[in-house]
Amino acid sequence: MSRIVSQFVQRFLQRWLIRLTFAILLQNFFLHAAGPAVPILLYHKFASPRTDFMTVTTKHFKEQMDLLSKNGYTVIPLAALVAWRLGKGPAPSAHSVVLTFDDGNLSFYREAKPIIEAQRLPVTLFIYPSCISNASYAMTWNQLAELAAEPIVSIESHTVWHPNFKQEAKKSNPADYNAFVDMQLRKSKAILEDRLKHAVDLLAWPFGIYDPSLLNRAKAAGYQAGFSIECRAATASDSMMALPRCIVLDEDVGPRFLRFLDAAMRNAKN
Ligand SMILES: [Zn+2]
Repeated sequence: MSRIVSQFVQRFLQRWLIRLTFAILLQNFFLHAAGPAVPILLYHKFASPRTDFMTVTTKHFKEQMDLLSKNGYTVIPLAALVAWRLGKGPAPSAHSVVLTFDDGNLSFYREAKPIIEAQRLPVTLFIYPSCISNASYAMTWNQLAELAAEPIVSIESHTVWHPNFKQEAKKSNPADYNAFVDMQLRKSKAILEDRLKHAVDLLAWPFGIYDPSLLNRAKAAGYQAGFSIECRAATASDSMMALPRCIVLDEDVGPRFLRFLDAAMRNAKN
């Protein structure tokens, strides 16, 4: 009788051991398959007090940067994320995050720059050259050159004058539209490279608008990666020419900012 009990226990344990091993293997497979996911944060302008919904107050921007470091996030350069995706660099570690700033607003220089310098945070600015040293709200070429000389700052393309490609496509015939798109993509890259004396190979889509034809034209224009506005962390499953970014709002402070980052991770493509 005791032999029968012992055989039963032995079989029972064997069966559970097999199930447990299978479950661990399955979990490891999915963890590996999921790979790194990195939220790419997007800011536009800063002010105290806030002027519109795209504005983040300087106080809240500082708080958001502090929350990143206090909660174990590492701000990595956008170039490191791109290098990983191109198979030219290591995978980003867990809790990596990227900072990007669009449109060359003067408030970046006045409000955000001192904060990112104090914390030595690597950042990427996406610039449309037509506004530089031209519009009152924008930075000057001298200010951009000063920023470009900092190892933590990288300056990339946002087309020449920030067109809405969806509306432009409706306005003209396909040949004229394609020529316009190529001009916006190539001229912006050429102007920035000439002015700032470094290679420009990343592109942020104006208004986050893109389609398969635009992605192909950007690739043909020499861009290595493009960036859209879709709030989820970027993974190996996202298109290289339309990597998603999340707009951060002024309300995203305290626990809400951490929930915002968690949501970006949950929405990431597997
Ligand atoms: Zn923009």
